Amino acid sequence: MSYSKENVESIVNNGLSRRSFLKGLAASGVLSSFPGGILQANEDLNTKIPYLGQKSYQTFRNACPRNCYDTCSIKTYVKDGVMQFIEGAQESTYTRGGCCVKGNSYVKRVYSARRLKYPMMQVGGKGSGNWKRISWDNAIDIIAKKLLEIKKEDGTLLGAALTKYSGNFGITHYGIEGMFNSIGYTTRLAGTPCWPAGIDAQNLDMGDMWCNDPEEMKDSKFIILWGVNPAANSIHSMKYIYEAKKKGAKVVVIDPIFTETASKASQYIQIKTGTDGLLALGMAKIIIEAGLHDQKWLDANSKGYKEYKAYLDKEIKLDDVAKTTGIPLAMIKELALSFAKAKPATIWMGYGMQRHTNGGSMIRAIDAFVAVSGNIGKYAGGARYGHLSTWGFNYAALSQPKPEGSVGYSGPEGAKGEFAQVGGAKAAYTDRFLNINKTARELLNAKEPKVRLLWVACKNVFAQDFDRNQLIRAFQQLDLVVVADQFFNETAKWADIVLPVATQFEEYDVNVSYWHYWLSLNEQAIKPLFEVKSDLEIAAMLSKRMNQLSAGSCTFPQSADTKAMMVKEFNPGIYEQFGIKSWEELKNGPVKAKAVIPYADGKFKTPSGKFEFYSDKALELFGSALPAYLEVRKPYDKFRMTSPHSRWSLHSQFQNLEWMEDVHPEPYVYINPDDAEAKMVKEGDTVAVFNKQGLLRLKAKLTDNVQAGTLLMYEQWYNNNIYNVNELVDDTSSDMGAFKTGAPGVALHDTFVNFRKL
Ligand code: SF4
Repeated sequence: MSYSKENVESIVNNGLSRRSFLKGLAASGVLSSFPGGILQANEDLNTKIPYLGQKSYQTFRNACPRNCYDTCSIKTYVKDGVMQFIEGAQESTYTRGGCCVKGNSYVKRVYSARRLKYPMMQVGGKGSGNWKRISWDNAIDIIAKKLLEIKKEDGTLLGAALTKYSGNFGITHYGIEGMFNSIGYTTRLAGTPCWPAGIDAQNLDMGDMWCNDPEEMKDSKFIILWGVNPAANSIHSMKYIYEAKKKGAKVVVIDPIFTETASKASQYIQIKTGTDGLLALGMAKIIIEAGLHDQKWLDANSKGYKEYKAYLDKEIKLDDVAKTTGIPLAMIKELALSFAKAKPATIWMGYGMQRHTNGGSMIRAIDAFVAVSGNIGKYAGGARYGHLSTWGFNYAALSQPKPEGSVGYSGPEGAKGEFAQVGGAKAAYTDRFLNINKTARELLNAKEPKVRLLWVACKNVFAQDFDRNQLIRAFQQLDLVVVADQFFNETAKWADIVLPVATQFEEYDVNVSYWHYWLSLNEQAIKPLFEVKSDLEIAAMLSKRMNQLSAGSCTFPQSADTKAMMVKEFNPGIYEQFGIKSWEELKNGPVKAKAVIPYADGKFKTPSGKFEFYSDKALELFGSALPAYLEVRKPYDKFRMTSPHSRWSLHSQFQNLEWMEDVHPEPYVYINPDDAEAKMVKEGDTVAVFNKQGLLRLKAKLTDNVQAGTLLMYEQWYNNNIYNVNELVDDTSSDMGAFKTGAPGVALHDTFVNFRKL
């Protein structure tokens, strides 16, 4: 069965069989367009991805707005108003015609029987499962009345809270924050669960988080992939790495886990978890002692090199580095010296390394090593982490004034998160900021006023946040929980009202990346299915109803056209940066920002204007001016648990699709065979993994890819096999994050567990 105008309604209601879907894809030729087949990231820079380009379809421009390095530019094929298939846009040299297995499931995702279709209300109380369909008017009326009730009783709307994160990074989706801005001062779950400690580290060192274009990696002479697994999670970057390797570059993977990327590297170095900072400090000491450091660059562009070198001389003993990291000293020396001799050389740091209690300090140590080697500000060099340099949109959807007379929080203002680009005059009041990484306890503890209404958008709180038992308590004490989503996810189960939200194929938007330098248009390719609405339309409906009930209570526009809002997001700076005169040029395909090499001019946005080995700000905020070694959290149970991202999902997204269940039907715990033997666990046995937080039951897979003393479980949400690795994670913070994102990160990978055979 395939998708047609006649059968699409029946498919969405009843589901398309998984077998039919995969068969349908094979027949359409889409499977053959997957880079290197359906699962592999073995695309070569010179391999031509077949361009489907069938003429009998209407085509539209889209982008994948999920929290993924690759932010693919997509071409969507539609027949009779029904999406048939998508492919990666050929015009982007980064996407180059291919999408990952998740992207290629978009048609299935849009027409999934599991999508939310209508507003619903849980009439038997949160978690009861007793849902009834309600009209949009009814849903919006209930929400509007609750907001006005809170305002009347509290004299402020601080009792209304918003939690939103990375489910959709489209620029107009900041209209959700705009909706909350437009009703008054409210409470925001602020900060970022993903990368805060690293953001702080790079800002302390360089005054910014700004990485070189990943496409340059093809010309790097030495690449260290440090705790990053692009073969699984940024497959489009792999072609540049392969090309560099083909041209003679050495590619080294440093990771506690032998990953898909490690299997493709020139060398894999297994490191003891949480000791990466010490390794970087040791490597810096080695190249300085060998006279391979770039003294000229350091003299001209850095502050505190002398103090840093004195620290290395005094505190860093190479034998200790070898012992602590578990890497032979000869191997460390060879790695450091060959990196320093190869120019340009680069290090790409993943987002797992900073999810430790010493995460920020580890990123600072690696930045410092790259700086000492003279590879900052160089083409194909750099200490790569991410960037927001192409995100300079107007944020028109976000920028809504407060209603006159709004009363808010009058304490010190917190930061608003890494994507909040819009400043403004200092007001007498602010919103109230709670730490998104401690959602459960923050919601429970918030007083004067207490939080009574929670709006959840672009986020699956029960899949991504910690301390499930407390989360249930926190949700149960709220008067009204609204979940606006595309699917009936784990969080929706604890909502009072769910609102069905449009996919990126049913609205207009614009997307950029935190990794590459491309800009993509998101066109409305199909009419919204059933009763789904864009987040902007929902905001407009709420505004209309609130103003009917109380004139002037909401400043958000009372009607919303996603295309008109998208157009408002562009400005001359964006046009200039991307070399276009109008947004309409994006209908011809994505465009790339003009080439720029970060810090090539030696200008850093630090207080000194230089790369800061010695940072007064770091001393003030985190107690150490230098990127000194900080020991990682001490174990509180027998095994370290690590929970990286899976290639089958983006956090809890995609894994809920039926065909993902076909190719990856259940979660596993990956155990080193020595550890398994000691517990008499065999391949396929069901085991309990437990700690002070909770207990999970899942099957064991034995593999040497995981070092002894560590268990690996991917973070995912499964539909029929409810499993959430975060149930074992407490909310202990990483060392940094509060400087730039308002709250520290979570030390996810400093979780400790035990296991037994069931
Ligand atoms: S998940 Fe990532 S790689 Fe896959 S389609 Fe989306 S942006 Fe591309």
